[in-house]
Parts: sequence; structure tokens; C-alpha cells
Amino acid sequence: MYVDSHCHLSFPELASRIEEVRAAMAAARVDRALCICTTLEEFAAVHALALRYDNFWASAGVHPDSEGVAEPTVADLITLARQARVVAIGETGLDYYRLDGRSVGEMRWQRERFRVHVRAALATALPLVVHTRNASLDTLTILREEGAREVGGVFHCFTETAEVARAALDMGFHISFSGILTFRNAAELRDVARFVPLDRCLIETDSPYLAPVPHRGRTNNPSYVPFVAAQLAEIKQCPVEAVAQATSVNFECLFKRTAEPRAGACDHEKLD
Ligand SMILES: [Zn+2]
Ligand SMILES: [Zn+2]
Repeated sequence: MYVDSHCHLSFPELASRIEEVRAAMAAARVDRALCICTTLEEFAAVHALALRYDNFWASAGVHPDSEGVAEPTVADLITLARQARVVAIGETGLDYYRLDGRSVGEMRWQRERFRVHVRAALATALPLVVHTRNASLDTLTILREEGAREVGGVFHCFTETAEVARAALDMGFHISFSGILTFRNAAELRDVARFVPLDRCLIETDSPYLAPVPHRGRTNNPSYVPFVAAQLAEIKQCPVEAVAQATSVNFECLFKRTAEPRAGACDHEKLD
């Protein structure tokens, strides 16, 4: 059984096809997914998925790329995070990829927003779902300054260097790999994945984007996450079942789900 640790099922590409997506997930043995929130405005739709289906969970947060949307306060995020089946704060972080002519200095609002999320995570003891693009140093600095080690979380859709992975791991964070791991031009990322211990790896689709090979270019959905697992298994030279099990256990551990507690859920010894 596989877990998709990061998907956007409330986005228009997927929102009207939930039953179809769920059938595809069942056929592909993908039994759980974390539905990620990107704006306060979107939260109700993301949360509704987690309330309606017992194998979906929700996050609460405002994506660094979300502009022209309501700006969250720490109190706003705490209120959302305390609702049932909300298991993470995010996605949050920094993205300097699309500066649209602005300097990094002018992106102070993103850094402030990120700090607000870390403070909400600390206040609720929930892990962070971190998005970082072209901004790894500032991302690590803010996490360090705000004491994010206390709650941990995941660097999602990881595309950074081994050095950044090391720093994230040292801070207690997990690393999540997406379909990018399967792309022909991602040899360097596969080298990074070789270095990240399996007991700190998660897998995700980030659907509807970034469909893995052999579906690259199509609308992604959680039923494609086994292709990411298969790629990771090839990198780790282990059976795909070992990747499925480890990433599922890691998901349970990280998001400390209270529903369906499993004895020994964090016992990685069993995976050897
Ligand atoms: Zn992201
Ligand atoms: Zn995302």
C-alpha cells in the first residue's frame, strides 16, 4: 500500500473527478493521501475532502506563490489547524523562482508569511509542509531561527542539492520525492535520493502537476505515486514493497495521525 503525501485534489483539474481518482487510487493500491491547502480561501474545499473520506487528511496554509489572497495570521492558522483531520501546516516556504522583476529583498512578505506558518506549527505541534524553490538558504535560515526543529516536517517535491538535504535532515525534517525523480534529466536528483536514508523519505505526486514517467505531461493524480516509489526502489536497490512500507510508516510517524493508530508504527527495525 502506498501513501501520496502531497496532492492538490481541490484544484480544478481534479476536483470534479474525485470518485474517478479514488477508483484509480484503489486499483493502484494507493490507500492514503494528504490534501494540501494553498490559500485560506481554499481551505474549506481541502478540509471537506478530509472530512468526507476517511483515507484523506488535510493541511492548513498559504503557499508562497499565492498572491492577491488573504494573508494569514498565526491565529488564523491555529484556528484551522485545530479542526478535525488537519495534520500539517503548509504548504509554506519560499519561492524565488518567479520574482517577476522583483529583487529577493522585495520578497520580504514571503519570508514573513513563512515565519507566521512556523509559529503556528509550533503553537499547534503540527509538522510543516515546506515548499522551497531557488531559496534554500533563506528557507533553512528561517526554519533555524524560528526553532522549527521542534515540530519538524517535510521538504516536499525535493529538487535541491545533497547539501540542502543534509541540512534539512539534520534539523529533523523528512524529504519527499515527486515524479521529478523519474524524469530523464534528473540524474543529480537521483544521486541526492541515494543519499537520503529511506527512513526519512516520503513520496508524493504534487498532483495535478509533475506526472511521473510514463505519464509525464498528463494530469497527475495520486494513483501515479507507485511510479515514484518504483524509481526510488531502483535507486535504493531494494524491492518496491520496502519503499512502499517505509514511506507509509514515515507518513504515519511524521503526521502523528490519531485515527487508526498502529502499534509499532515508527519501528524502522522491522523494515530491515
Ligand atoms: Zn510546493
Ligand atoms: Zn503542492
